[in-house]
Amino acid sequence: MSACIFCEIVAGKIPATVVLETEHVLAFRDISPQAPTHVLVIPREHHDNLTSLVTHNPDLAAKVFTAASDAAVLEGLEGGYRVVSNIGDDGGQTVDHMHLHVLGGRSLTWPPG
Ligand code: 5GP
Ligand code: ZN
Repeated sequence: MSACIFCEIVAGKIPATVVLETEHVLAFRDISPQAPTHVLVIPREHHDNLTSLVTHNPDLAAKVFTAASDAAVLEGLEGGYRVVSNIGDDGGQTVDHMHLHVLGGRSLTWPPG
C-alpha cells in the first residue's frame, strides 16, 4: 500500500499536524479544512473504508470512533461537532484509507450536499 498517502503519513514519510496518537490510531489536521476544526482520524492499519474496517477488525473500528470523540474533547468542541466517513464514489471518498472527519468550531448545516 505504498501509494496510499495516509499510510505514508502513518510511516512518517509525509508530514502531518498530529493532534492525537495511540498505538492503533492517528488523528491529524486536514490539509484543506472545511471548518475551524477539521481533524482526520485513521487506523494505522490500512483498510479501504469503514465497511472493510468493521468487517475485518471491529475492535479497531471502536478505537477509531473513541479517538474521534477524544479528539473533539481535546479540540474543545463543547458546542458540538460532526463525525463523517465518506465511502466510495457516491459518498465522495477521495482517499481510500478509512478515515473519520471530525468537524467543528462553527454551526454546521444539514443536509450535506
Ligand atoms: P475524503 O474525501 O476521502 O472523505 O477525505 C480525504 C481528506 O483528506 C480530504 O478532506 C483532504 O483534504 C484530506 N487530505 C488529502 N491529502 C492530504 C494530505 O496529504 N494531508 C492531510 N493532512 N490531509 C489530506
Ligand atoms: Zn493506507
